[in-house]
Amino acid sequence: MSLVAEYKITRTTGSCGPCAHGFAEGEEFTTALFAGGESFERRDFCAACWKETAEAYSYWRSRAPRKDEKKRENPMAVWAFFESLSGDADPQRKKLAFLLSLTLQRKRILKMAGTRREGAREFLELEKRPDGTRYSVEVPDIKDEEMAALREELVRLLDSAV
Ligand SMILES: [Zn+2]
Repeated sequence: MSLVAEYKITRTTGSCGPCAHGFAEGEEFTTALFAGGESFERRDFCAACWKETAEAYSYWRSRAPRKDEKKRENPMAVWAFFESLSGDADPQRKKLAFLLSLTLQRKRILKMAGTRREGAREFLELEKRPDGTRYSVEVPDIKDEEMAALREELVRLLDSAV
């Protein structure tokens, strides 16, 4: 049976999708994104419910914050989602890949190695630290009014500001 069909879609981030177990402070869980239509669905899985699935567009390890802990960015989430998006030809996803590449450059996980043009299209050539893996990211045409929506989408999917 399809994993997607096994349970109701929930956007609650504090509990496991399949078994509804609420995550304890500091508990590790897996977050997976599933591609569906225009957007992605984010689902969280406790250790017992998670199995790697080819259906997941992208996934990463998360940890439930402790009560006194401020919510922080999860660099693993940003990286995992960027890596999945980087080979995607979908125009909307290219925009997300570009925004995440800016975050990763700011975090010095990606380093700018140059730019390249192909007709009217421009690409950033990026290098991952420390292993030097190359990524080519198209510079998309993002309208001002689109930007806020794209950022909100990333916050919703990654559960952190980017
Ligand atoms: Zn579970």
